[in-house]
Amino acid sequence: MKNITILLLLITALIILIEPLPLRQIRGYYHQSMNPGYGHCYRCLEPWSNAKGHYTQYAEYKFTDEPYSGIRKYSVGCFSLCERCWSELTPRKRLPYYKKLYDDWDDIKVTPEHKDWNLIEKAVLEGK
Ligand SMILES: [Zn+2]
Repeated sequence: MKNITILLLLITALIILIEPLPLRQIRGYYHQSMNPGYGHCYRCLEPWSNAKGHYTQYAEYKFTDEPYSGIRKYSVGCFSLCERCWSELTPRKRLPYYKKLYDDWDDIKVTPEHKDWNLIEKAVLEGK
């Protein structure tokens, strides 16, 4: 009986240390309910109020704002994964999460020239 208790404690500690994805998703879903209005990681479901999103830049535009500072740049990017999930996946395994974000953009307003799946896919596969 004592051995079983120790074994269960070890398994519990291991699960807490490893934090398997389903456990993180349950926590993320719970945190979403506590932080309405925030977007979230498409993999672990943690809201951006609690997790740092990995910014993937997929375009850069230049424009002039003379007579102020001349040529200026602004980047266009998105984040569908938190830093942790992003680092756990290969570029190819990240793609479905970016595609899901891209597909969800139909429901919100995204400037048409910024909604370019080919640019996003290329940036993701390049490891950005
Ligand atoms: Zn995540």
